[in-house]
Amino acid sequence: MTLQRQYRRGDTGPAVAEIRSKLMLLGQLGIDARPDQGADSDRGDDAVFDDAVDRAVRHFQQQRGLTVDGIVGPETYRQLDEARWRLGDRVLSYSVSHVIVGDDVATLQQRLLDMGFDCGRVDGILGAGTERALRDFQRNYGLRADGTCGPATFRALDRLARTVVGGQPHAMRESELIHRSGPALAGKVVVIDPGHGGADPGVVADGLTEADVVWDLARRLEGRLSALGVQAYLTRGRDGDGLVDEEQRAAFANATDADLVISLHSDRNDNPQARGVATFYYGSGSDRYGLRSPTGERFAGLVQRELVARTGMVDCRTHGKAWPLLRSTRMPAVRVEIGYLTNPEDAAQLTEAAFRDMAAESIVVALQRLYLPPEQDEPTGMLRLPTFV
Ligand SMILES: [Zn+2]
Repeated sequence: MTLQRQYRRGDTGPAVAEIRSKLMLLGQLGIDARPDQGADSDRGDDAVFDDAVDRAVRHFQQQRGLTVDGIVGPETYRQLDEARWRLGDRVLSYSVSHVIVGDDVATLQQRLLDMGFDCGRVDGILGAGTERALRDFQRNYGLRADGTCGPATFRALDRLARTVVGGQPHAMRESELIHRSGPALAGKVVVIDPGHGGADPGVVADGLTEADVVWDLARRLEGRLSALGVQAYLTRGRDGDGLVDEEQRAAFANATDADLVISLHSDRNDNPQARGVATFYYGSGSDRYGLRSPTGERFAGLVQRELVARTGMVDCRTHGKAWPLLRSTRMPAVRVEIGYLTNPEDAAQLTEAAFRDMAAESIVVALQRLYLPPEQDEPTGMLRLPTFV
């Protein structure tokens, strides 16, 4: 089933029944013991999105690194579906036309990594890299190297997983890649993603439109990066011609084989007091799932640090999220939410060209720091663009 619309507290009907049963299956919601569950409840017409469902959805969203709003839209629904799979529930194999996604794939990836078979990062998506690592594993352990994870492979994984002490080979591989690529920015490839665009303006408030603000920021960033010899690609044009959704933008970044992805947004809140800057990297809200990009997290920390130090914006810190753009990109990716357009102070700052220049410069300096060996890293606020041209 695919969701036709969003569901939230107060909604009723068969789709809500489906959501309730998924949450129950995951142990997020107590067994439904309402006395009026007659024969009619098969169709679920009387299922209610009540406070308990709202709480369960929020808890689930928090665990999975989704936006915690208690609303079940396509992304939350998809993750409810992925979360139910345990390793061994179904045969896993790679297919280009029907890619298998789920928590069982994430477990498989984690086990392969623990044993030293490099399948890239743990993202729960069964891609070519995971299949390669799986074949490697099968070859090494005397199994038929068919790249299909069936009963024999499940048994072998089960036996071996208990003898392996988990390491962080993926984390080491990511930082190794960063060091090997050297401190010079020239020759690196960066995808800049100005959020929204086209039919989707993003946040509109105080005479500002998010899509326009981040487009302008993206161009300032692109100019600075190009001057340093970085190959910069934008995911869309000014009017939004180009890529529409985050999955397409992620696929574009993967196709360019970029070193990094930087997605630019501004935020909103019903409370006009809410203000500041926050940076997001790929990771789930809780460590329970062990999904995270260590380099993405480090880069997010640097971007956040430079932006706060240079612009004086309120520090809303860095957070792990599993949004499609962060998750489906194979390289470290961050999303910056620069200011709240619903806050008068932030909005006033964002209209100034000098402020936008400073924000772009902050991101470039963070990029430079990411590639600098630790001993050359000067205190925040010390680096200036001409220093490293
Ligand atoms: Zn946005």
